[in-house]
Parts: sequence; structure tokens; C-alpha cells
Amino acid sequence: MIGRTYLDWNATAPLRPQARAAVVAALDELGNPSSVHREGRTVRRLVEQARERVAALVGAEPRNVVFTSGATEANMLALTSAYEIAKDKPRRCERLVVSAIEHPSVRSGGRFAPAQVDECAATAEGLIDLSALERRLTELKWQGAPSPLVSLMAANNETGVVQPIRETAAMVHAVGGLLHVDAVQVVGRIPFDINEVNADLISISAHKMGGPMGVGALVRRASAPNIVESLIKGGGQERGARAGTENVPGIVGFGVAAAAAMEAMAADAQHMRVLRDRLEAGLKRGPAVIFGESVERLPNTSLFAVPGLKAETALINLDLDGFAVSSGSACSSGKVTASHVLAAMGIAPGLISGAIRVSIGPTTSENEIDLFLEAWMKLVAGLSRDKGGLAA
Ligand code: PMP
Repeated sequence: MIGRTYLDWNATAPLRPQARAAVVAALDELGNPSSVHREGRTVRRLVEQARERVAALVGAEPRNVVFTSGATEANMLALTSAYEIAKDKPRRCERLVVSAIEHPSVRSGGRFAPAQVDECAATAEGLIDLSALERRLTELKWQGAPSPLVSLMAANNETGVVQPIRETAAMVHAVGGLLHVDAVQVVGRIPFDINEVNADLISISAHKMGGPMGVGALVRRASAPNIVESLIKGGGQERGARAGTENVPGIVGFGVAAAAAMEAMAADAQHMRVLRDRLEAGLKRGPAVIFGESVERLPNTSLFAVPGLKAETALINLDLDGFAVSSGSACSSGKVTASHVLAAMGIAPGLISGAIRVSIGPTTSENEIDLFLEAWMKLVAGLSRDKGGLAA
């Protein structure tokens, strides 16, 4: 049996042992956090402690953390928010601007009809095109549709490219708009403070930082207006923002994972960066193209392709050799569709269909990277033999 090497941390991270222990312990707690008796109050304390830990990870106030079933729901909640753009003559915000590289849960547009959504272009490096955004915001203002809601991810899940959130926030706030940030791939990996970047709302997910699946949060900056309108109505939990008895074990595991990620962040980021650079130095000994290489990326992500090599073929072969990697976004895998992110970057379709993502984590070892490179080189050499040589 071949040992397995997991290099798909952007799809999901292994559960941290401390988070697992906390989830298991919480499963044995009796009590509904809304109950006033001692059992209920004990469980409530566990939920509130987790809220404090998650808030601390992003520099927010605990009362501004709304627990959800994950980042997909947090994104939907943000994009379904209702805010009035004029106090005297109340008028609802009616424009949403998203970048062309967003996760499908943001691209779906929330409550906004397709005609109310603008998509902002990306550059060849995989960054939002800030001048295109500024032009669009100015046009909207002149067209009498001010105060848009803008949604931009903090770092892309496929390329790892880190987006200019602070600059975008300044631009959006200058026209009276609000900024939502899908910060799933950043939070827990590199420092991200909601006040420092000046985002109004951010979405995060536990399972990307070693917490359990099925829990996430929408977090609001303390000085941002409270625009969240509950998607799930009922018992008034989460200060009315998300009804339903809380997922206590999930929330507790999320809190423990957040605290662990925060404590180890600097050392983990450095470890991952060294390994990612080692991987890319190895890839470059062959004919690989690395996407977004010239701009700031997450320390753990590498998206690359070799002309002529199909991602499906590579994934199957690598899987048989014991390596779990991904082609573009795992959220859309199973069905292999062309990456909308690489298409938005203007990458040629022939290269897009070969894109492979390796994403690593704090427990990835140098040996695992070297083993992967060996398997990769074997694959590329096989392709050169079949084709009588690869295109440059
Ligand atoms: N946004 C991004 C950037 C993601 O990578 C993901 C997970 N693939 C999500 C949102 C959705 O998160 P969840 O799995 O918690 O619904």
C-alpha cells in the first residue's frame, strides 16, 4: 500500500488534534445554550468562549461574530444583507459588485438579481483590476446608484493571490458603499485584522484552519453599520442574525482551531513558504508555468501547468501514486470544469485545462514535497516521451 501525501489544504485542512478533542468533549455536554438552567448556561459559556477566540483571530469584537454553517452561508448572509442608503428617504442598496475571481457562493449574487450585479475584471496576475473597479464605482454613482455592496476575496483559493483589500475598502467607502470580504483562505494562515483592512464584513470557515466542517462565521467590523438580515428566521439565536440551535460541538472546535492557528501562525507561515518555494524551484527544473508568481500570494499555495498535460490525467496518475492534489477549485471538482479564475486572468484554454493546485499546511514535510516532485517529473517525462517532446 502506497502512503498518502495530502497536498490539498485549500480544499480542507486536517482536523487539528486539539480541535478534535474539544469537539468530542462538547458532544457529551448536555444542554441547549438558550436554556436558563445550569446545563444551558454551561454550554452557553462554551459557545461564547469560542466566539471570543474566533473574534480574536481577526481583531473583531465577539458580539459581532455570527456563527453559520460555513463560509458559503456566511457569504450568502452578507450578500442578502439589507441596508438603507438614505435616512430621510429610505432606499435599499440595489447594486452588487463582485470580482471575476470570486468563489461560486459569491458569484451567485445572494439577493441581487443578475442585472443588479457587476463583475469587476482581474489582471493577468490574478489581482482585482482596481482601476476598472474605480471606473465602475464612479459610473454607478453618476447613474444614481450609489452605495453599492462590493465583495472581494482576501486571497484566491486557486492561485493564492492576495488581494488589495485595504485599497479596495478605501475606494468603496469613498462612494458610500460597503465591502464584504471572503477571507476563508487567509484567516488562520497569515495575519488578517478586520480593522486594519477596514472591511465591513468578513466570511470565514473552520475547516480551512483545522476546525471541523460545517461551521463558519460572518464577522462585522465594530464601526461598520449592522446590515445583516437573517436568512434563517426562527428562535432569534445569534442576536437574531441566524436562528436555530447552535452547532455547539462545531463551534467549540472552531474556537479551539482558531486559537491554535493564531498561536502558531508566524512559524507555520514561514514553514509553508519555505516548502512552497522548494516545490516551485523543483517545478521550474521542468517546463512548468506558475500562475500569479510575480505578485504576493499565500505562503502555502502553488497553481501551475505544463502545456500539453491535462489536469485530469495528472490528477489520476498522482492519486494512484499516493498524492492528493487538486485541479483548480475543489468546490467544483468531481466535474472538471474550466477555471473561471484562470479564464478571468486571460490564460489560454489549453493551459487552463492543465492547471494543478498544490496547497500545503503546517504539517507538510520537506520529504513530502520531494516525493511529489519526483512523481511530477515522472509524469512530465512520460508526456515528453508520448509527444516526442513538450512545447516550451
Ligand atoms: N470561499 C472560498 C474562497 C473557499 O475556498 C470556500 C471553500 N471551498 C468557501 C468560500 C466555502 O466555504 P465552506 O466550505 O465553509 O462553505
